[in-house]
Amino acid sequence: MNSKETNLMDKLVSLCKRRGIIFQSSGIYGGINSCWDYGPVGVELKNNIKRFWWQSMVYQHENIEGLDASIIMHPRVWEASGHVESFTDPLVDCKSCKRRFRADEVPNNRCPECGGELTEARQFNLMFKTHIGPVEEETSVIYLRPETAQGIYVNFQNVLKCSRQKIPFGIAQIGKAFRNEITPGNFIFRMREFEQMEMQFFVKPGTDEEWFETWKQKRMEWYIQLGICPQKLRFHQHGPDELAHYAKTAFDIQYEFPFGWKELEGIHNRTDFDLRRHSEFSGKDLSYFDDETRERYIPYVVETSAGVDRTLLTCLVDAYDEEEIKGEIRVVLRLAPQIAPVKAGIFPLVKRDGMPEMAQKIAHNLGQHFNVFYDESGAIGRRYRRQDEIGTPFGITVDSQSLQDQTVTVRERDSMLQERISIDRVGEYLKDKLTKGN
Ligand code: ATP
Repeated sequence: MNSKETNLMDKLVSLCKRRGIIFQSSGIYGGINSCWDYGPVGVELKNNIKRFWWQSMVYQHENIEGLDASIIMHPRVWEASGHVESFTDPLVDCKSCKRRFRADEVPNNRCPECGGELTEARQFNLMFKTHIGPVEEETSVIYLRPETAQGIYVNFQNVLKCSRQKIPFGIAQIGKAFRNEITPGNFIFRMREFEQMEMQFFVKPGTDEEWFETWKQKRMEWYIQLGICPQKLRFHQHGPDELAHYAKTAFDIQYEFPFGWKELEGIHNRTDFDLRRHSEFSGKDLSYFDDETRERYIPYVVETSAGVDRTLLTCLVDAYDEEEIKGEIRVVLRLAPQIAPVKAGIFPLVKRDGMPEMAQKIAHNLGQHFNVFYDESGAIGRRYRRQDEIGTPFGITVDSQSLQDQTVTVRERDSMLQERISIDRVGEYLKDKLTKGN
């Protein structure tokens, strides 16, 4: 990273803290490495991203169903999935400074911190282990799920039956996953507790490559609809040495972060690996019978697996902008309106003459449908700037003219242009602007 880019990450971390987007977890105790909390503004942004994903995957596809599976699962699940055996990273320790690294991240075999000698690589399982029940013995060892996908596979038959779907169809899920990463970092890019948005699409073997291509394109399109700059997005195909144990083909969608091109989402052709293994390990038949062709087969799976937190970081990095206006720096998050945490700031120009009451009434009415923020303190310019910093797309101001003709000014965040509209049209106006591009 050059200094300008380091600067951007530093500025973002500090903005996130100051404005209630992201806090270090357990900050009063000095924090805990790679765990983060979302503040009042951050939780809105995160929920909006998840809603946007859910709408585009579940609501806009008749053949995709939703699911919310348990984080704690039967321990055999992780044997069947291959995670107990192979969900590992090679780990090396520096003999001098005792720091720990992923072997694949230190190509020169010399400690990147102090130049010291490194130990031989050993395999380190990334799953968090804990115990279920009151007795701490081997039989009760369980894991926190390292991916949400397995909750979908074990429910394949349940969803198939209750939804009366036919292949091809998909199951989508958003939920927490846990990985004891060796080298976490880059703010919320690599965390030990994070959220995934995964969709597993079950298809007939032989049609998997075509479906893979379809989902690959659709998922790229999704990031563009989310407002991410297309020039900063690209595909990266996994070479044979990068492929996970279950994958036939894998592409990542990458974004160009200040710290390099990095994965946002994995699109994998998982073949029939998972359903086959769960059939073997559980003794339950997870095959599918096609009524029309009278064929029975174990479906192939095309997986799209995205990180909520990484998407959120991408939105922040991509949206952050500074511009100089009359010698002052304006910080603005140019977030797509549909994911902006606050949709409109509502301001009385001054704190008298009935303007606060009128503005509060507008805020109350809009608050039935949108997350809006009422603010009457300080100069109007400062109030606009505060909203710019968290990406609020509109500022609605009640001034003396409002008292006479029941109109307000609406200021647009990016252009800072203002137009005057009648109060009874404000709701429609916002609805129209916020659903555009959705
Ligand atoms: P990486 O190579 O970065 O470790 P991965 O290839 O192991 O990621 P997958 O197992 O494909 O990742 O997980 C799917 C998605 O889940 C990733 O694209 C990413 O968005 C998200 N994800 C995975 N690990 C983490 C993590 N430690 N912190 C935040 N998000 C993560």
